[in-house]
Amino acid sequence: MNLLSIGGSDPSGGAGIQSDIKTFNQLNVHGLTVLTAITAQNTTRFGHIQLATKKMLEEQIKSILSDFRISGIKISMVYDSSTIESLYKHLKGMEVPIVVDPVIRSTTGGVLLRKDAVKNFKKLLIPLATVITPNKFEAEYLTGIKINSDSDIHNAAKKLQNLGAKNVVITGIEKKNKMTDFVYGENFNYTESSKKLISINHGSGCNYSSALICELSKKNTLKQAIRFAKKYTHSSIRQAKSIGKGIAITQNRNQDELISELKQAITQFITIKNAYKVIPECQTNFVYAKINPKSIRDIAGVTGRIVKTKKELEVAGDIEYGGSKHVASALLSVKKEFPSIRSAMNLKYEIQTIDKFKKNKLSILKYDRTKEPKIIKSKEGLSVKWGMSTAIHKVNTIPDIIYHEGDFGKEPMIIIFGERPVDVLQKIKMVLRRV
Ligand code: PLP
Repeated sequence: MNLLSIGGSDPSGGAGIQSDIKTFNQLNVHGLTVLTAITAQNTTRFGHIQLATKKMLEEQIKSILSDFRISGIKISMVYDSSTIESLYKHLKGMEVPIVVDPVIRSTTGGVLLRKDAVKNFKKLLIPLATVITPNKFEAEYLTGIKINSDSDIHNAAKKLQNLGAKNVVITGIEKKNKMTDFVYGENFNYTESSKKLISINHGSGCNYSSALICELSKKNTLKQAIRFAKKYTHSSIRQAKSIGKGIAITQNRNQDELISELKQAITQFITIKNAYKVIPECQTNFVYAKINPKSIRDIAGVTGRIVKTKKELEVAGDIEYGGSKHVASALLSVKKEFPSIRSAMNLKYEIQTIDKFKKNKLSILKYDRTKEPKIIKSKEGLSVKWGMSTAIHKVNTIPDIIYHEGDFGKEPMIIIFGERPVDVLQKIKMVLRRV
């Protein structure tokens, strides 16, 4: 999938186009860029701006639009009226999601949108927005409404919608030690909160809007995309590093590729509405194995599992090799027979869930835990191995699901298998679509 980011260069790599390419890369989409300007800035001060000429700007747009299929666009630093007019001319009528991130001033104080361009920004760019993502200051600046209360936020969001933005997310409002985003959709509104992190940083706004366009373009719902973007940004702020002499730069470090692929799938899973309904008493683990795992130490999982707190899911602990015992050993046993299977997740057993998998024609295996030999029961860690080998004994087709209906004091359980975490996720979505 190709996404286009239109904005300014930030040589510090913390914000702007450079930051967007990093986010796109991390979220497995190809990043295309159109530079509106080159800035000279670092973590302590904002220096000079050199705008792309009108010709250069339009030639960049034409060369990208004439070659690539683009699934979504993010617009950030535009700086002046002429840039806005060129963007409007080329982008109006494009039927892809567009996130407009109204960058007005950098955290280090640089002006990123000229005062005399605000009128055109409102008239031409805001109407292109599928979602506009101002922070509190930007919402105040664009609407002229000073935000001191929920009703001020409501009025500011409505004003931005009246200017033509389909959806509005006003980010980063501090409320009772939480950071709250106010979401105004076409016919709904709600808030999304996370723990407040004490951090002045460079890059979080860019991380948010880039993650948002990625998830929207992957055809997630607006709510899912917003939840993902918030979690992604929260994590990038948590990992922010003081690399230069001034403010910290947000990071979403590219760890081990396997861990990062699993992490992404887990973030997607916990942002699915209703996902909490499939979490068993013993909670859930989501695992991903190296190509030739020798033991569960070669299988990544969540050290404290994915846990349910009321209607929310939380990743407890870290995602690391050896992070799971039971689901990982189930995977290890199944992988021995069916080497292409590298990922698994356990779900709460419900007969309706099995029925939905059957309707979707998944290959389902079952074993009877009441038949487990005493000798297996008496030794810690052998049950899962016994269960899996019993289920796959003399089976030729690759299983999607293996389950058992429990035993005295043992919770029934479903395990979903797939080649990669996205495949497991796909199968879970078959159940959650109709929960
Ligand atoms: N510089 C450029 C080129 C940007 O696009 C942005 C934000 O989008 C910034 C600086 C500001 O980043 P921050 O407010 O995180 O410092």
